[in-house]
Amino acid sequence: MSNDSSLVNRILFVEDQPADVELALHQLKRAGIQCVWNRVQTASDLVAALHDFRPTIVLSDFSLPQFDGMSALQLARQHAPAVPFIFVSGTIGEERAIRALRSGATDYVLKDNISRLAPAVSRAINDAAASVERAKQEALIARLYRVLRMLSGVNSLVLRIRDRKELLRETCRLAISAGGYAAAIASTKVLDIAAMQPVAWSGIDDGITEELRTYVAESAARESSVISRVIRTAKEYVCNSTASPSATVNLDALMIHAGLQSVVVLPLVIDGTTVAVLVLSARDSNIVGKEELEMLREAAGNLSFGLQYIQRDTTARFLTHFDSQTGLAKRPLFCERVQRLVGNTRSHESHYAVVVMDIERLSIINDSFGRRTGDLLLQHVADRLKRYYPKTDQIAHFGGGTFALITAPGNRTDEEIRVAGRQQAQTVFGEPFQIEGRVIPVAVRTGFAHFPEDVSDSTALVQSAEAALHDARVSGAKHVRYSSTTRSEGVGQFALEHRLRLALERKEFELFYQPKVNVITRRIQGAEALIRWRSPEEGLVAPSVFLPLLESTGLIVQTGDWVIRQAASDCQRWLREGLPPIRVAVNISPAQLRHPDFVRDFFRAVEPWSTKTSGLDVEITEGVLQEDSRAEVQRLKLLRDSGVKIAIDDFGTGYSSLRRLAALPIDTLKIDRCFVAESVGNPVGASLVKTIIELARTFNMTTVAEGVEKQEQLDYLWHMGCDQSQGFLHSPAVTADEFAVLLRHGKGVLIHPAERDEDSA
Ligand code: C2E
Ligand code: MG
Ligand code: MG
Repeated sequence: MSNDSSLVNRILFVEDQPADVELALHQLKRAGIQCVWNRVQTASDLVAALHDFRPTIVLSDFSLPQFDGMSALQLARQHAPAVPFIFVSGTIGEERAIRALRSGATDYVLKDNISRLAPAVSRAINDAAASVERAKQEALIARLYRVLRMLSGVNSLVLRIRDRKELLRETCRLAISAGGYAAAIASTKVLDIAAMQPVAWSGIDDGITEELRTYVAESAARESSVISRVIRTAKEYVCNSTASPSATVNLDALMIHAGLQSVVVLPLVIDGTTVAVLVLSARDSNIVGKEELEMLREAAGNLSFGLQYIQRDTTARFLTHFDSQTGLAKRPLFCERVQRLVGNTRSHESHYAVVVMDIERLSIINDSFGRRTGDLLLQHVADRLKRYYPKTDQIAHFGGGTFALITAPGNRTDEEIRVAGRQQAQTVFGEPFQIEGRVIPVAVRTGFAHFPEDVSDSTALVQSAEAALHDARVSGAKHVRYSSTTRSEGVGQFALEHRLRLALERKEFELFYQPKVNVITRRIQGAEALIRWRSPEEGLVAPSVFLPLLESTGLIVQTGDWVIRQAASDCQRWLREGLPPIRVAVNISPAQLRHPDFVRDFFRAVEPWSTKTSGLDVEITEGVLQEDSRAEVQRLKLLRDSGVKIAIDDFGTGYSSLRRLAALPIDTLKIDRCFVAESVGNPVGASLVKTIIELARTFNMTTVAEGVEKQEQLDYLWHMGCDQSQGFLHSPAVTADEFAVLLRHGKGVLIHPAERDEDSA
């Protein structure tokens, strides 16, 4: 046997005649084929050599004294199927040669035509090398295809799943089932400390997966570990052979022990910070090539996006349901909870009371001690309520100084209830509050309603308590129970309704316009039409006074129709007068949108004249688009198809999630005034505004900030990339004629009210 070298061919002879081997080697050498060789002549030596010598080719005689060529061929196919096998024989004969080829021989060369040997050997070796390469490529493609399936699977998970843990769990499963990995572990960052905690895992072998999981859990806290490094650098770690010197010692030992040879650790990154890592490992070595890594990076990127999205949505959802200042539920969530609690009561066996309370003179506290003290006071009040009513899901902050709670007082008499109410108020608010060294006594006024005695419908319980509170405010009483209030209110309402009907007939309504300003150019980009009632007795009346009644009586449909026609007519007049074209948004109330003729009437008013730059848009509230509002959604789609922009008004005060809205025909979000007010000087408010703007952008919606009163608010909105701003900072709502003046000046550049006055003087 000659010397070994991995570059030269390795030839295994199955031959009893050393002279024949010499002859063959001579032929090969003459043809320039470099080789090392080995000779065997028994079955057992052949099998051993196939494994130990690892030949590139086998050259076999056909008939040997202790062995025969066909058996040799069979053994070779069995132990080294990819190695070419050529018969070199003097006796083979045509018929046996054909049988040999059929049984898997690569070729045959007759000893009396030995000059054919060299070309036959080199062709066989080249063909074998090519087919090994082909098989490798095919395996690679099959592997990449699996990873691609995993990638597209991850993408659809990201779109579908709204829960962080579930997203990671499904990803791990996919890495095994589609990606072909042996084990996958996802760990997320534990808040505030550097550690990572495995939250999801999957693998083909539970024992190994568990070991790996334990490793990941403890190594994340060790600074020198691979996991820590990935967390710190936000760069992936790839090891394609755990036995190689580059493999990290700890991980290496573990992987070898677990029989895993390739491992990749992918960081999942939000805003530059690693929030989770995904560890994927495989049994084979060298599987994470360049292309596979590209795809894994893409999958990690998309997963990160999904996590970010879930995180933001959770904050936004939290903040739309809960008051950021007190951490208590807002009104809509409270109403839902009350309904659930009371609605679940079978027959009228349980008794509940909803109490709505107002802190008296909060505005005076704000004025005398400053807004900050007022805010702190509200937090203290919330804390005290939480102390006395430990079921915090039964307490709410409706905004301002108004809090609410639901209790189960049991069946008591009127007098008992009144006494208990007074006592409760005394217990909770008897002690004054200590705020920043000041002692502030607090008095409350409450309105309450009992179920089932006062109100038998759980949906009306909160409203009734509020009505009672309203009555308490008007009458000056401290504690008012619902029911006595209804009749007197009813009379007043009836009168107002009558006056509103007259107002409609007598054309006492007017439309005012408030500009919407482009945050970057600071030019007027649009306007909102806002209704006013010029009452002969009371002068200009704000919509908050009469809109609820218009809504509850259905008069809003007629009035709303007037608003649309009036806005259309004002716009057309401005166009005729040569003013810059502008889009004007009108507020559409739910009853209007529910009306079957709404779209037809809208188009009638708008179609003859509107263009892309001038026309009417609509503003609706989230409440309009409840789950069962298919017809309303269809109407909005019709409007939108013809270029009308749809905005969600007062976004953030209702409690739809933005994701749900994203599926609906909506172009614009109007960020509610209360968020804008809190955007400066309140980190939670600021982050909420930021979140809304960023999410809106994700869904290709534009944003309009409402109630912008201060320059700092506008600056912040500009920073955050808000599109438009509306508020007293620019201008209050003004009459149509005044608005025309605003528009005319400098082609829509908003001028200061003072200049406007000078100008018209
Ligand atoms: P909205 O659609 O959210 O309109 C914005 C309200 O915020 C307007 O009150 C506007 O005057 C007020 N506002 C604007 N900038 C500021 C600011 O910087 N600070 C403060 N504190 N307030 C600001 P308005 O005109 O009293 O309207 C109240 C609500 O009445 C409107 O809220 C809208 O929901 C409804 N509304 C008004 N006109 C119509 C109408 O024609 N049809 C219907 N269905 N609803 C209307
Ligand atoms: Mg509006
Ligand atoms: Mg609004």
